[in-house]
Amino acid sequence: ADAAPEIAGPSPRHRTVGVRIGEGEGAVVMGGGAPIVVQSMTNTDTADIDATVAQVAALARAGSEVVRITVDRDEAASAVPKIRERLDRIGVHVPLVGDFHYIGHKLLTDHPACAEALAKYRINPGNVGFKEKKDLQFGTIVEQAARYGKAVRIGANWGSLDEALLTHMMDENANSARPRDARAVMREAMVQSALLSADRAVEIGLPKERIVLSAKVSAVQDLIAVYREVARRSDYAIHLGLTEAGMGTKGIVAASAAIGVLLQEGIGDTIRYSLTPEPGGDRTVEVKVAQELLQTMGFRTFVPLVAACPGCGRTTSTVFQELARDIQNWITTSMPEWRKTYPGVEGLNVAVMGCIVNGPGESKHADIGISLPGTGETPTAPVFIDGKKAMTLRGATLAKDFEGIVIDYIERRFGQGTKDGLGR
Ligand code: SF4
Repeated sequence: ADAAPEIAGPSPRHRTVGVRIGEGEGAVVMGGGAPIVVQSMTNTDTADIDATVAQVAALARAGSEVVRITVDRDEAASAVPKIRERLDRIGVHVPLVGDFHYIGHKLLTDHPACAEALAKYRINPGNVGFKEKKDLQFGTIVEQAARYGKAVRIGANWGSLDEALLTHMMDENANSARPRDARAVMREAMVQSALLSADRAVEIGLPKERIVLSAKVSAVQDLIAVYREVARRSDYAIHLGLTEAGMGTKGIVAASAAIGVLLQEGIGDTIRYSLTPEPGGDRTVEVKVAQELLQTMGFRTFVPLVAACPGCGRTTSTVFQELARDIQNWITTSMPEWRKTYPGVEGLNVAVMGCIVNGPGESKHADIGISLPGTGETPTAPVFIDGKKAMTLRGATLAKDFEGIVIDYIERRFGQGTKDGLGR
């Protein structure tokens, strides 16, 4: 009989040219098969050195591997080398990217220390175009990057699409025998804006090994279509992000849908969630969400995962929700310490389940799982370790006892000089 067809996982990664961002400690590679990089952006005024250092450090400590800061005027450009120095002094070596619009060419020329302190420059071809007089501005930024050995992200954006290019393409479309709809022309303009700009940068003298491309759009389907095309037509390293994703769950869902589909197709070397925080809200949320997406899709591991069932009418009390929450919080807060002592611990899987319907099954798939008693069940909680029932917990100390079992397991499996001597 014919073998059953293979059930496919994600597509192989789209092959791109690897781009090194930064030097020494903290340097990362985007593309070329390297792990997908998590990045973020500050929302402080870069001229405010204290605030920017604090936010960059918070983002980096939350797991952002690259942080972008706005460089919009002389005061911001003068602050950049001081920010770099302060960060290095407190042991935060995360590469900094300067976000330039309109006058980036001038700022980079007038502030060589800023040009040197940054690991990468972001240019928007829509407002630093490469046609006619703008060629000079684009060319100057690219030349600065080549001179200082820096990477550049050429970031086309739907909201600031190159007017001249779009008008030209719209006219061409209107005069063609079979005109396409305006949206399709805009998508094509996005793709071309990114690719033509990147090719122009190569022509000016920046090697492909220093170029990352993005083509951000705020509508999910447009974004997927545009990035598929960018990937199909080139091998530049790709930065993924849904621009202006929005606030709260809407922003998270929209960006996850768009980025998730593309990652599944093998497209994307670095990701950023452009979430709008609540006023005064926690900026690091965008880093946590990016990490969770990559981990949940199986591309990277950052923090042990706690699988928990949603609970239902079979769960008699809040003990189950409390245990799932407490275990996740305990793991998250312990991670900085655990990472030093237990290499590889981020790959741990824990399951906290509400009853015997799915509890034992799910627990067996995890490294450690507990199945709490549901309505009408005997008030005992079997614990499964490496797929086998290891013990049964009961009584008021159940949560603490379970924590003890988890830490024992971590010590045995990930501790240096592990107890079983097998490296696990
Ligand atoms: Fe409900 Fe049990 Fe399923 Fe959890 S495992 S959702 S408690 S039936």
